[in-house]
This record gives sequence, structure tokens and C-alpha cells, in this order.
Amino acid sequence: MSITDLTSMAGSQTQLRIEINKRLSNLQNETSDYCFQCAKCTSGCEAHKLLELEPHKIVALLKKGLIDEMVNSDIIWTCIGCYKCWERCPQKVAPVQILYTLKNMAVANGKQIPGKYTSMLQSILSIGLIQDIQEAPTYDNKTKKRDALGLPPLSKPTDPQKFQMNLTKIAVEKI
Ligand code: SF4
Ligand code: SF4
Repeated sequence: MSITDLTSMAGSQTQLRIEINKRLSNLQNETSDYCFQCAKCTSGCEAHKLLELEPHKIVALLKKGLIDEMVNSDIIWTCIGCYKCWERCPQKVAPVQILYTLKNMAVANGKQIPGKYTSMLQSILSIGLIQDIQEAPTYDNKTKKRDALGLPPLSKPTDPQKFQMNLTKIAVEKI
């Protein structure tokens, strides 16, 4: 469902809008009220290029209080969390944090989440990483391991059971 379709639906949810803006303030960022729709966030958005996510429109919808519409939309899951929108915003609004909040709300409301997220979560629970350690491709069509690139080794949980328990507890508290 496109963002244009979403704007034609339902009424404003003022209380939820206030709560999301409070979260932005707690992160020492400005609330969506400070957005002047310059679209600088969207012009740098990695998901916009391929998946038509438009973070400035997400902020605009939040300002209108059209929150359920976004929570129910697939579009929020296209954000890859690159943080460019946050870095580029001249008004210190953080569209990425709005999207995280919307995703958390979708999970809390029992919405179906994309399969890729489930596999990432399973991988985090078992090895502490979203995927197993990959070798980096080089320009001459070869690959290099982390140590060949001068990168330190990545650690994995020493007590996987305890790690899973703690992570689940934190995740539930955050949602
Ligand atoms: S860059 Fe900031 S001010 Fe500009 S549209 Fe995006 S959120 Fe709004
Ligand atoms: S964090 Fe998400 S919304 Fe922000 S620029 Fe990256 S992909 Fe786009």
C-alpha cells in the first residue's frame, strides 16, 4: 500500500503522535513538528532508491496523526536503518527513529513481520549476529576475510542460553 493511499484513510491519533514525539525528544532530537518538509531525508534514503520509502512523508503522516495506517503498512519494513535521514536532517528530526517506533508498534500489535526479520532474529538469538560472518568481495572478484582487512575478530556469546534469555527480556521491555 502506498503512502498516498494511506493518507486517504482514517482519523488523527493525537495521543500516539504525542508519545512518538516524546520518544524523539528523549533521544535529544526534535519532534516531527520541526520538520519543514525539505525532503533532504528522502533524497539520501537508501530504501527510497529501490523500495520507494519516502521518510519525509512518514514524518508528514506522523504530524497528521495517521499512525495506524503506517503501522499496518508494508512500507515501514523497507527501512534498512542506515541512519542517513537522521544525519541529513537540518532540523534534527529522526525519521529512522519514527520508523523504529512504528515497527515496534506493529510487533506489539501482533502484525505479520517480513520473513527476513524473523531469520535475522533467529540468527541473533543463536550466534549474536544478524548473519554469519561474511568475507568481503574485492574489486578483482575475490574475497577477503576480516583479518586480511585488518579488522578485529567478532565475538559471539560465550553462554548462548543466558544471552538468549537476556536479549528476549530486553526486547519485551522495549516493545
Ligand atoms: S530532512 Fe528533516 S526537515 Fe527535511 S523533510 Fe526530512 S525530516 Fe523533515
Ligand atoms: S534509516 Fe531508513 S528511512 Fe532513514 S535513510 Fe536509511 S533507509 Fe531511509
